[in-house]
Amino acid sequence: MVAHRGAWKNKNLPQNSIASLKAAIALGCVGSETDVHLTTDNFLVINHDNEWNGLVIQKNTLNDLRKKNLSNGETLPLLHDFLKIIREQNGTKLMLEIKSSVRGKVWADSTVLKVVNLGHQMAVQKWIIYISFDYEMLKEILRLEPTANVQYLNGDKTPGQLKQDGIKGADYHYTVFQIHPEWIQSAKENNIDLNAWTVNEEKDMNWLLVNGFNYITTNEPELLFKEIEKYSRSVE
Ligand code: MG
Repeated sequence: MVAHRGAWKNKNLPQNSIASLKAAIALGCVGSETDVHLTTDNFLVINHDNEWNGLVIQKNTLNDLRKKNLSNGETLPLLHDFLKIIREQNGTKLMLEIKSSVRGKVWADSTVLKVVNLGHQMAVQKWIIYISFDYEMLKEILRLEPTANVQYLNGDKTPGQLKQDGIKGADYHYTVFQIHPEWIQSAKENNIDLNAWTVNEEKDMNWLLVNGFNYITTNEPELLFKEIEKYSRSVE
């Protein structure tokens, strides 16, 4: 059970807020997903969209971005804030999406380096699963930290290809697995973790549970929790 952008929906919290991360931890989610970008003054900022308050995060400073708060009054959070919370508990991993660079490869590499370094500094590497749509970013993470747990998001690589490149998981839109059901078996044979996003309907959750997925990423963690209980009872 991975809470997509934290557990925000049921409690009406802003997505990707510290409050939504804490709610995912309180719910006992295996993972809480979030998104990170690098600012011009080298801060790693948590936000889904490339822009915050009309400003492109990768082209602005933290000070300028923080002129607007989240709807619950939080200042725009940093990855450092999230990792401090992750470090103080032992149940929930951070599914950390490094957003694609809008400033080319040098920026992409620089972002990856800063994210990996921060994980090291704070000694939380084993509590991070890196995810990205950018395959080259994932390879760069593995070059810097060969034991890192990384999952690919874009849905255009077979489990065999992922294995060859050291990628540990296929975190694809759930319809990709419905189009390529053979990838499910192939992932299991290749020891590739199966994850699917963003699954909000009971029938889709159930299909993934029946197929033995390792992770399900959802905006509805409370609903998924119930589906998992139902499914567990049905196979007892
Ligand atoms: Mg994301």
